Amino acid sequence: MAAKVDYKVIVGLEIHVHLAAKTKMFCGCELAYGGTPNSRTCPVCIGMPGSLPVMNKHAYECAVLTAMALNCSIARFTKWDRKSYYYPDLPKNYQISQYDLPLSENGFIEIPLEDGSIKRVGIIRAHLEEDAGKNNHELGSFSAIDLNRAGAPLLEIVTAPDMNHPSEVRQMAQELQRIVRYLGVSEGDMQKGHMRFEPNVNLHIYKDGQTYKTAICEIKNLNSFRAIERSVAYETQRQLEEFLETGKTMQMGNKRTYGWDDVNQMTVLQREKEEAHDYRYFPEPDLVPVEMDDVWFEQIRSRLGELPLQKQKRFVTDYGLSDYDAAVVTGDKATADYFDAVVKAGAEPKRACNLITQIGQKLANQSNTSVDQLGISPQNLAKLAQMADKGLISATVAASIYTKMPGTDTDPEAIAKAENLIQTSDTGAIEGLVNEVLAENTEAVQDILTNSKKAQKAQGFLTGQVIKKSKGKANPRVVTELLAKRLSELAPKG
Ligand code: ZN
Ligand code: MN
Repeated sequence: MAAKVDYKVIVGLEIHVHLAAKTKMFCGCELAYGGTPNSRTCPVCIGMPGSLPVMNKHAYECAVLTAMALNCSIARFTKWDRKSYYYPDLPKNYQISQYDLPLSENGFIEIPLEDGSIKRVGIIRAHLEEDAGKNNHELGSFSAIDLNRAGAPLLEIVTAPDMNHPSEVRQMAQELQRIVRYLGVSEGDMQKGHMRFEPNVNLHIYKDGQTYKTAICEIKNLNSFRAIERSVAYETQRQLEEFLETGKTMQMGNKRTYGWDDVNQMTVLQREKEEAHDYRYFPEPDLVPVEMDDVWFEQIRSRLGELPLQKQKRFVTDYGLSDYDAAVVTGDKATADYFDAVVKAGAEPKRACNLITQIGQKLANQSNTSVDQLGISPQNLAKLAQMADKGLISATVAASIYTKMPGTDTDPEAIAKAENLIQTSDTGAIEGLVNEVLAENTEAVQDILTNSKKAQKAQGFLTGQVIKKSKGKANPRVVTELLAKRLSELAPKG
């Protein structure tokens, strides 16, 4: 058996994000998912000779905004280049991309890790390019090509090799999704291919006082968080075993490209590159360079807003939420902003967070919407939270009132009164119920008085019975107090 060796995983990511523009990058064709094949095409995006591209300014601004959120420096002068390659889904035989003067470079992204710490991953560059079409090989003894996607604006982001664990790669992908959704620059829908990830993985293996580096493997076209984490984990193990068996290092092998087989949960070798592809980059003669003045730059920057991680941190420091709660409630911008408004309307943050994430999100899912779209004003939800905090209603009753509020935005107090749900702290009334329950449950009373092992459970049971008798209206604190008092009176005097 091979000796145990120490090693470090090194992962960098290449990411393609579909920008949510109304039209394609260099023509006026509508950008929409699906649709009859080749119905959203024109001479420009099917590459007819003589057609001329025109840059989509909105898509460009979306790209710059994202680059700003990724802390990149933004180029005030950038240009377009042709990247030549031949493939059926690329009718021009070149892709318009950016080569030596990308629109942004040298940034970083901060990722909240599961242990509460923050990891910083460098961004080498982010540039704009157009997507290719789609080949369909599933129709029979021929292949078909759909160019609806050809020319869609794609933001390519290249990270530094700063990730050192499969879960970090997944969390980087998730944080990027949260950012693009907050910015509104992409729907970030993984299933629709709005974000595609390509991890570059290799290992630094420490053995006999030496460091060996394995050859870099690129895993192509991942479009689920699970596939990202699992494929990196698989590739780590595969490279380690290969090194232990063959001793092969980076110098003895070229960069290889792998695919992810989701059925068998393994990476599959696609091709071994002899050298870097010669894409014959040269400046696109049909497009003018983009020059950005200060006014335009500031216009875009003013749309940046508070980013998800900033919001998450603020909810922890200003509102006292746990890291976990803050991460859940900032999962999407609409929920985070709604929560913020509810707290600003006077709700205790933890209470508001629990109501929104435990009840509100369930209601929203049922009606296929988001919590802010349920038709409940932040003021009324804050009022509900306050009623629970003051002990006017129990947490259970608060939850049930919440489910009655959507659509009508009814005052929760009116619901509580109409349905007779206001909790009572009237000791006289509760005392009567306590006496009834004690008389009806002599066995539990005996357990409490004589069997210390069963006492706690029996006491909880009796408390529950009193609250049940009150139809949920008896204040649990008062019930517990009165019950304890009556039980101590019943206890044999020693
Ligand atoms: Zn077109
Ligand atoms: Mn690309």
